[in-house]
Amino acid sequence: MNQYIEALQGPAPSAADIVRLLQLADFSAVYRAADEVRAARKGDVVQIRCILEFSNHCARQCAYCGLNRCNPHARRFRMTEEEILASAAEAAEAGYQTIVLQSGEDRYFTAERLGELIREIKRATGMAVTVSCGEMPERDYAHLRACGADRYLLKHETADPELYASLHACGTLAARVACLKSLKRLGFETGSGFMVGLPGQTLETLAQDILLLREIGCDMAGIGPFIPHPDTPLGGCPAGSTELTKRLVAITRLVLPDCNLPATTSLGVLADQAKADVFSCGANVVMRKVTPEKYKRLYEIYPSKLGETHVRADRLALERQIRSLDRIPL
Ligand code: SF4
Repeated sequence: MNQYIEALQGPAPSAADIVRLLQLADFSAVYRAADEVRAARKGDVVQIRCILEFSNHCARQCAYCGLNRCNPHARRFRMTEEEILASAAEAAEAGYQTIVLQSGEDRYFTAERLGELIREIKRATGMAVTVSCGEMPERDYAHLRACGADRYLLKHETADPELYASLHACGTLAARVACLKSLKRLGFETGSGFMVGLPGQTLETLAQDILLLREIGCDMAGIGPFIPHPDTPLGGCPAGSTELTKRLVAITRLVLPDCNLPATTSLGVLADQAKADVFSCGANVVMRKVTPEKYKRLYEIYPSKLGETHVRADRLALERQIRSLDRIPL
């Protein structure tokens, strides 16, 4: 098996090597290898990044997403500029150094409006700003970059063009990949990612997902299980496997050793053993919501259990948990 692990770290990892590893009955040697690469390339630091979900309006109709424009049950909200700046200030005071500004594809938030917000957040807080607002023309991405945006997150969701087309009535995989390549050209730290367990997906497709991350040169990859939302066309489909998701994170760490890889599950809701396990697959990032309570429940791409939290108390509790795992929160 070692030769397959080594092949993934070489100049030309193949889909066949990835599939072979994904099928192993005992995956522990791959987890160990991924954890060693994480320690060597990223150290013991866990980067804690906050997400502010500032609008759930969306012009698209992705078949898996509760925010899609055809969902009549979604209660829409849009935070005001003042609310967004206040939330960013609260996050910075709580100790966050990076904020992810995330929304559906909301035409109200033009590149000019987003640019002003980015400038003001950076001026007032000094935080790094990641934008996650979907597909835009390259000139809009360039404007956001000129306003100081550091990173952009745009998941490709699946590298299978036919599966992509069946899930995305409003777009194509080619257009999505073109956006990611634009972002990379413009100097953004570029994040993509994919879902695990989509109906019709195969291990070969998942291997191609990882190879696409490599081809784009992604600096970050969010890999998460598909979770069905009842008010979407995929509402009756089974959820993706968390074990398979962890395996894919581990393999991504081997293929892209310097990539930032978020742990897929929130630490706070896990039992102690699962908490210890969360980073063992090579992950080095945790994402935390700082969306105000009154909006947080309305931002439902997929159903999740959300407790009431205070931004600063939540951050301190998370830092304690990370230290208890002998890792260093940042
Ligand atoms: S995944 Fe994003 S673009 Fe697609 S419907 Fe949901 S919020 Fe809109």
